[in-house]
Amino acid sequence: MSWVIGIDLGGTKIASGLVSPKNEIVAQSRIDTNADDGLEIVINRIADEIDSLKSHLPAGDTLAGVGICTPGPVDHITGDLLTLVNLPGISNTPFQSTLQEKLGIPVKLDHDAKVAALGEFHYGVGQDRESMIYVVIGTGVGAAIIYDGNLLYGESNTAGESGHMTVNPDGHACHCGSKGCLETYTSGPNLERHYANLAGETIGGAEITQRAIDGDNIALQIMNEAGRALGIAVASMAMMINIETFVIGGSVSQAGDVLLSVARETVPQYSFKAVGERIQILQSELGESAPILGGAWMAREAIK
Ligand SMILES: [Zn+2]
Repeated sequence: MSWVIGIDLGGTKIASGLVSPKNEIVAQSRIDTNADDGLEIVINRIADEIDSLKSHLPAGDTLAGVGICTPGPVDHITGDLLTLVNLPGISNTPFQSTLQEKLGIPVKLDHDAKVAALGEFHYGVGQDRESMIYVVIGTGVGAAIIYDGNLLYGESNTAGESGHMTVNPDGHACHCGSKGCLETYTSGPNLERHYANLAGETIGGAEITQRAIDGDNIALQIMNEAGRALGIAVASMAMMINIETFVIGGSVSQAGDVLLSVARETVPQYSFKAVGERIQILQSELGESAPILGGAWMAREAIK
């Protein structure tokens, strides 16, 4: 394998990692995104980060490629960014080709949930599987479907929008315009909202997760509802596509069994017994490294 860089281009931060031929992240950097500066300045900023990471390459070795993920829709054939609500400054730009021209090496760009799924599938908990669904639960909720080793994109590129599957038709209004979406029960901001409503105290998603692990009753009740919503969504996805491995990533997945054991108990109640008992709901193994290592995998595919 070759030296590559994986980049997680987020709404507020750009995290980059230099990945060795042994697939170790040997150096990392983190800078502000400031997407309002526009395409050229953001590309130059990323190119500077890549240059400084290259200083960690052993003498004589070269960088072979770059894989990058973004929190919004991408034309996965051309690598153009489409309309990114949280990155308006670089929306609708030829991001992949511009960065590739600047660097002079192959660059591959895709949506963040898909890239993290590739990392987990090739280098993490999914390594010995043929198919898996990766559900990322953080500020938002999304998923990526890998079937027989390939990502499913769908007919108009929206496959995997599991955050907006309805798990309760009488549930809370969602920002997408629907009601009772999986996201309204599980995303960090929604956990915060539920906690504030019940406890009269506003704390962040990470703190709620920790309190649930420590046994706080209100935090546990919220995680219980989140786990149940996740289990209903997993059961529906499994009944539709008959994939048996579900990997849960993103910051909320740090809750571990407090969240996942409830989801596991819920799945058989909403699926055929024969389907439900084969479902495995696993916690992400790579955590925050998943998008970087997924980017590394895409970069290696791009140079083949
Ligand atoms: Zn929704």
